[in-house]
Amino acid sequence: MSNFSQKPTIIFDMDGTLLDLAYDDLIWNQLVPIQYAEVHQCSIEQSKEVLFQFYQEHSHTLNWYSSHFWSTKVGFDVLALQKKQQHKVSRREGCIELLEYLKANHYPCWLATNADCASLKFKLKQTSIEQYFDVIVSSETLGHAKEFTAFWEKLHQLHPFDAQQTYFIDDTEKVLLGAQKFGLQHLITIQQPSSTGLIRENSNFPMINRLTDLIPLLEQAEEQKQYA
Ligand SMILES: [Mg+2]
Repeated sequence: MSNFSQKPTIIFDMDGTLLDLAYDDLIWNQLVPIQYAEVHQCSIEQSKEVLFQFYQEHSHTLNWYSSHFWSTKVGFDVLALQKKQQHKVSRREGCIELLEYLKANHYPCWLATNADCASLKFKLKQTSIEQYFDVIVSSETLGHAKEFTAFWEKLHQLHPFDAQQTYFIDDTEKVLLGAQKFGLQHLITIQQPSSTGLIRENSNFPMINRLTDLIPLLEQAEEQKQYA
């Protein structure tokens, strides 16, 4: 007998997918540069230049997602700065509606995030979404960022899933490409990850805007299964 549920597993990214990326943009593009300028006695322009250099060097690595790494790098407590603003963490439109739908229709629901364990903890608390997930993993725990197939191999070892059937929704192109390389079949991206950011024109993957736009896609797939 198969261990897999009849309904496909739905794996979600957190920041920029279920949650509004505007919070992270505020922290990393505005507040960190301001505090860096204060601590290192330089202008905001100089601060942004130095930080941009750091960001370029570490983008898409585990370090990039580590509050501890950044605290050491910039010389102040980045996690404390994030927590001070935690009331600004918010869910994207349709988030609860979608998660309620998936729960009511018995879809296994997982959260796979590159956020480190400390950020994951306060973000889950702030947004009350923890209850909807059967599995929650941070790339910090697995030791690899989601951009790399090693993340997916490790996740698959710990929590087996059917890569042919599973849906994965993430706002980062490089993450989706990593998942594709591993063999995940149903990959979907987000058109506007940040409510204060740009609307994407194109992607290598199908795009949804409102999270509830996923529902008709799943219903269509279920219907096709019935007639297959
Ligand atoms: Mg994301």
